[in-house]
Amino acid sequence: MRVKLLAKRYAQALFDLAVEQKILEKVHGDLYQKAIDSMKSDNDIPKKDYYVCPTCGYTVADKAPDKCPVCGAKEEMFNKA
Ligand SMILES: [Zn+2]
Repeated sequence: MRVKLLAKRYAQALFDLAVEQKILEKVHGDLYQKAIDSMKSDNDIPKKDYYVCPTCGYTVADKAPDKCPVCGAKEEMFNKA
């Protein structure tokens, strides 16, 4: 009987923990969303560089690859757009 009681308490503790984590998740989620919203309002146009391969037109964001995956053109040949 005692074991059963402990098991029940254990289950209850796990349940409480799960609920607590759900609440934390919710709080974190809200903070995260707020952070995103503030970033959006501070910076309406996302700053992103694009690199275009002059040979085949392959386009990649942020950084030119060492070598174009399509035609093999070198990184320095890419045009920043
Ligand atoms: Zn290319």
